[in-house]
Parts: sequence; C-alpha cells; structure tokens
Amino acid sequence: MDFIDLKAQQKRIRSVINQNISAVLEHGQYIMGPEVAELEEKLADYCGVKHCISASSGTDTLLIALMSLGVKRGDEVITSAFTFVATAEVIELAGCIPVFIDIDSETYNIDAVKLEEAITPKTKAIIPVSLYGQCADMDSINKIAKKHGIKVIEDGAQSFGATHNGKLSNSLSDIGSTSFFPSKPLGCYGDGGALFTDDEELAVAMRQIRAHGQEKRYYHARIGINGRLDTIQAAILLAKMEIFPDEVSLRMRIGERYSQLLSNFDVVTPYIARENTSVYAQYSIQVSNRDVVAQKLKDRGVPTAIHYPIPLHKQPAYTERCKFTDLTVSESVADRILSLPMGPYLTEEDQDFVAKAVQEAVQ
Ligand SMILES: *Cc1c(COP(=O)(O)O)cnc(C)c1O
Repeated sequence: MDFIDLKAQQKRIRSVINQNISAVLEHGQYIMGPEVAELEEKLADYCGVKHCISASSGTDTLLIALMSLGVKRGDEVITSAFTFVATAEVIELAGCIPVFIDIDSETYNIDAVKLEEAITPKTKAIIPVSLYGQCADMDSINKIAKKHGIKVIEDGAQSFGATHNGKLSNSLSDIGSTSFFPSKPLGCYGDGGALFTDDEELAVAMRQIRAHGQEKRYYHARIGINGRLDTIQAAILLAKMEIFPDEVSLRMRIGERYSQLLSNFDVVTPYIARENTSVYAQYSIQVSNRDVVAQKLKDRGVPTAIHYPIPLHKQPAYTERCKFTDLTVSESVADRILSLPMGPYLTEEDQDFVAKAVQEAVQ
C-alpha cells in the first residue's frame, strides 16, 4: 500500500498528459508558454478570483506574496508554529521576524483569539495555514487583520479545493498561496505553485516579482526572483484540472469514511468545523504512544507519516530568531499526530485494512 497512490491517478489521465506534454515539445516554449496563461485562467475561474499568478513552488509563492506587500527588515509576520517549515522560512527570507502563535486544539489551525494578542505595531502580515485540507478560521482572521490594517496571506498549500462558508480556499483573503508539489491535493510532476488575488496592484507586483521584478524586458522596477512555473508542469496541471472536482468529492467521501470506521477506537479523528469542507490533504489522527502505534502499523504494511513532529519554535534554525507565545497545544499535537494513507484512489478494501490495523495498534 502506498501512503499516497499517484499511479492510479496517472493511469486515469495518462493519454491526455502525454498529448499535453507532446504539444509543449512541439511548440518549444518551455518558459511561459501558452499553457501557463491557460492554466492561470482556469485556476482563477475555479477559485472565483480575478487574478492567478502561477509560480515555481508553494514556497516561492509565499515569498512572492510577502515581497509584494512591501515588507521591511524587522517587520513581524504572524503564523502557526504547527506547519511545514516553508511557511516560516519565507518570513526569514523576506527579512522579517516570524511570530508563532498556537493552534486550535480541534482544527489544528491558528487560534483567532490568540492572534489578536500577538499583534504589535510591527506586525505587517498574517499567514494562516489551512492545514490538512481544512481552511483556517479565515473570516475571523480577516476581520481582526482589517481592524489592525494588516494583510492576510492564506497558506492554502494543503487546502486547494476546500471551502470556507461556501467560498473556495485561496479566494478568502488578500492573497491565497498554493502548492502543486506532487502529493498535494492538486499536484504536478515536479515543483509548482500559484497565487490568487482580487487586488489589481498586488497582482501586478506578484507577476513582476515572479520574473526578476521585470516591468518590461530588462527593466527591473523591483527586486524579484526566478519564480516561474515550467510550461510542462502547466500542461500536466491542465490535464489534472479536468478530473480535480471529481477527486475533491472522492477525497471528501474517503475522509468521512475513515472517520466512521475509526469512530469507536481510542483515537482522535479530524474535526471539520461547521463552516468548512476539507479536501483531506492528510488524514491525521491523534493517538497516545504515537511512535509505538506507527511501528505496529508499519509491521502490518501500513505506511504512516508525521505532519509535523517538531513545532517550528523548537527547530534549531528558528529557536533564536523567532518570537512566540504559549504553544502548549502545538507541542502536544506534534507528539500525538499521525497521518494515515490517503488519496482519492484509496480503495475501500485498503481503507478497511488500515482501520483494522489502527484498531489493533491502539488496543
Ligand atoms: C507543501 C507546503 C508548502 C510548500 O510548498 P512547496 O511547493 O513544496 O514549496 C508550504 N506550506 C504548506 C503548509 C505546505 O504543506
């Protein structure tokens, strides 16, 4: 059993992928070919936002987003301590100070109540992470940010396709940032990402920053990076977009089925808030004796993963450089969290097998 089965998906669309890649080889525009613009239009339509700017990875999209806000050295950016390192990495790379706040014990996303306490005159942005496929409490976060004149970048790397009060992830704040890393809900066959905004000025800035800050050829209006999405990856994503809505439904059904199967066992299953739907980028449960349980599952042939074992304020590269408040919940969840095999093509048989193995492992 795979932790994420990417082969089943490829089988389903292999011929379209081959055709799309062949088309790129034919026209030869490997950088910013026509597929890139076509994809951006489709992604913007899907999310219901005015502008989509594709980019080289979900890390680069976060960096481009921060740079487009004009952050300065020493500015503070608030985010979650319980996320993939990229979210905090870009804050450092942009010269800012990461301020880690704790997560909600049920959704694992930043606690909007603790957010307001962490805001200082130096706070320039908030990067809420929509972890495991479920949006953060974006409406509350936006309200607080607006009150303090702070911008919000949703790190929607794991939540593309999820909804919050009926609106799609990545369309919920000033900027939405997602990743097309192969294992993400919408993944390509390499690195990729995309930015979303309704703000014309931010869209122009992000487009320029993505390509060396270029306003026109060899005229650099601002500092930028080499952050473009490859045409071949855009061509692959176009094929995947065709089946994405179906895959979102499959993910939701499989996620909910897991929760039913595991409901009577000694584990904490994901809590999806009333205003949200989740795409279950990960299906993560909490167990005591996590490492023992993971080993037992491994012995039965069930692969697992830990997202994430060490909160970022405890990572060697960050401890001395960040600011943080009480992170009790992040620390406790990091010790107990365990992700099970998940994906739109996980069969019921495999899922039953995983559930049984979990039952035996936690007894
Ligand atoms: C994957 C991920 C990223 C980074 O995306 P890459 O495309 O791998 O650079 C950022 N934030 C979160 C929450 C992620 O899961």
